[in-house]
Amino acid sequence: MKLLLLAPPGAGKGTQGERLAARYGAAHIAAGDLLRAEARAESRLGRQIASYQVRGDLVPDQIVLDVLTPAVVAAAAGGGYILDGFPRTLPQATAAAELAVRLGVTLDAVIHLYAPDSVLTRRLLGRAGQAGRADDTADVIRHRLQVFAETTGPLVPFYQERGILIAVDADQPPESVTAGIQDQLTRLL
Ligand code: AMP
Repeated sequence: MKLLLLAPPGAGKGTQGERLAARYGAAHIAAGDLLRAEARAESRLGRQIASYQVRGDLVPDQIVLDVLTPAVVAAAAGGGYILDGFPRTLPQATAAAELAVRLGVTLDAVIHLYAPDSVLTRRLLGRAGQAGRADDTADVIRHRLQVFAETTGPLVPFYQERGILIAVDADQPPESVTAGIQDQLTRLL
């Protein structure tokens, strides 16, 4: 199974990504996690990545592709992937499509999780203490939601036109969101 999770911060991509990966025996590839791991390495590249993440800005496309491609290539040769938080820009979506062609794999579906900004903000502020993320402050959360609306939002019609978009209301308990995704996946595939 090859799926993309297209969702704003706080919509539950991580939780749903893990569940879908377990359900379909696919690799859960979370772009934010891989970039944070690289940032922790405190290499030159890591420091560069951290400087974008702490402000809630997107990391430049080429860096994201360099960090993610090896994991995608490995997963494509195995049980497939649930890509969580990638692509987030139109150039990334084009690069992802080119990579899929090169690897001879086809994307099964793109799952768009949506919820009002007020709900997303409340959830992100609620987890702020536990997750220990530098980007879970009120100002940075506001900026991340704005970046999603302006830069990542246009990917929704991009995948809708390709007939592979599933939209699920994320303002429900996690089990209901998973059930909603699986229902629609069954209908689509
Ligand atoms: P996330 O863990 O998905 O909330 O991502 C946290 C941060 O990592 C984002 O605010 C960006 O700084 C960076 N990031 C994650 N995925 C991407 C991506 N596909 N393109 C650019 N930056 C990304």
